[in-house]
Amino acid sequence: MKTLASYLAGRWQTADRDFRILLDPSTEEPLARASSTGADFAAALDWARGTGGPALRALSFGARGEILKSLSKTLRERRAELLDLSRANNGATESDGAFDVDGAGGTLAFYGGLGLALGDRRWLVDGDGLQLARTEAFWTRHALVPKQGAALHVNAFNFPAWGFAEKFACAFLAGVPSIVKPATATALVAHRMVEIVLESGLLPAGALQLVVGATGDLVDRLGAQDVLAFTGSAATARELRGRANLLAASVRVNVEADSLNAAVLGPDAAPGSAPFDAFVRDVAREMTQKAGQKCTAVRRILVPRAHAGAATEALAARLAGVVTGNPADPEVGMGPLATAAQLTDALDGVAELLATADLVAGTGRRADGRGAPAGKGFFLAPTLLASPVPLELTPVHEREVFGPVATVLPYSGTAEEAAQLVAMAGGTLVTSAYSDDPDWLAGLVAGAGAWTGRLYVGSTGAEGFGSGAALPASSHGGPGRAGGGEELGGLRGLAPYLQRVALQGHRGVVDPLAGA
Ligand code: NAP
Repeated sequence: MKTLASYLAGRWQTADRDFRILLDPSTEEPLARASSTGADFAAALDWARGTGGPALRALSFGARGEILKSLSKTLRERRAELLDLSRANNGATESDGAFDVDGAGGTLAFYGGLGLALGDRRWLVDGDGLQLARTEAFWTRHALVPKQGAALHVNAFNFPAWGFAEKFACAFLAGVPSIVKPATATALVAHRMVEIVLESGLLPAGALQLVVGATGDLVDRLGAQDVLAFTGSAATARELRGRANLLAASVRVNVEADSLNAAVLGPDAAPGSAPFDAFVRDVAREMTQKAGQKCTAVRRILVPRAHAGAATEALAARLAGVVTGNPADPEVGMGPLATAAQLTDALDGVAELLATADLVAGTGRRADGRGAPAGKGFFLAPTLLASPVPLELTPVHEREVFGPVATVLPYSGTAEEAAQLVAMAGGTLVTSAYSDDPDWLAGLVAGAGAWTGRLYVGSTGAEGFGSGAALPASSHGGPGRAGGGEELGGLRGLAPYLQRVALQGHRGVVDPLAGA
């Protein structure tokens, strides 16, 4: 069996014990093993801070952008290999794997382009200058300079490729070296990507390191100039962000956690209208893409009571057409959950939801998958529930079931009530709204905007990719339970890795100093 190595302090390092086994979640066959026992994380941090950081800061934004562009191209050339690994280790269908792998390449290329546009600069100017006294002899400007530590990137199991790329692209462009830690259960894709990136020879030494397995004492070694960017469950986030050394040194911590996203059908979107059709198509896809293992997946489906019957029926019919099974079978439209633990957690979650909701489609039990050995594989067929008590604080608003599971919540149709329901989940990554009524949409923004990181509008004629895609030009992250973090959003995504410095003095000195 393949043993995955970590890449730390300039060399590949293999552990000799404490291995976790990586499986094919469709067949439960072992694929590889991973452990970081014995890794010297102090040396890794020294290498990042002492070698990687200075090398990156010596490069302009343009030079860093050029490298990101080349990395994107290099990884695209290995697309087929990465999709194979994604199918084997993540149970991803071709399109699910492409969503992850192509999303990674696109994000690297996007940030490469931003870097090229910034050219020779080594830091960013933030906003305009302002006179502080009677004349320009006292003037202020804000500059954003790279932090001088390391960025530790802890990623979730569901997007091994994109998760690596979206964090790495921003840190790298900002001039900060990365130590990347993929989730162990699905580390094969990220491990191979890092191998490819390092083999390319495009990166300065120390710019990228990889941990497979646990982080040991690495988090406890982070200090004032370091950054922790975490994606995963709210429970792990809570434990990590409370670490004493992070609090004492005010270490920047960016958290992307879980989210009970809502799709909202507007009262004007009657059955047969374009927004209604888009709603049904999008919600079914957002429930089943990557078997619902997306932080941006739709978990709560808000439907005006007048359209609840038609919408539920249309969704159930669409979900019935999704074949669950081993993605190696070309007929399969939805793969398994990633691990046995995820399946157990999802089944427990469905049981919790069913305490206050009714089953509309699915069984709430493990299924056998098409093209998989009987009794093997972590399969759960699409599962649709409906709540008779949408305005009560039931598990539907609190329990994230990380699988192809969502609940219909009938509501009055007013924007105010829709916003109230959106807010009941305590903060979400994305809300999607299907309507052509600008007043109703404005009411939803006014009421729910503070509770969601992104609002995706599916109106007549809109041609978006659906609410599940976190695109590099738009911010990704959400308030409250969703972690309170912010990633991507163009140059905003560099913010965790930069220090804002207010420069004050004579305008003739301050403006050039800021690079304005
Ligand atoms: P998880 O169990 O919290 O794990 C996330 C990552 O944290 C993994 O790499 C895990 O490593 C690591 N980890 C766990 N305990 C740690 C510790 N004590 N110290 C350092 N690292 C630690 O979450 P998950 O099950 O992988 O991911 C599913 C969750 O992520 C869902 O709730 C989903 O909503 C959320 N998610 C959010 C976003 C977003 O952008 N907001 C994106 C994707 C997923 P090991 O694998 O080695 O345990």
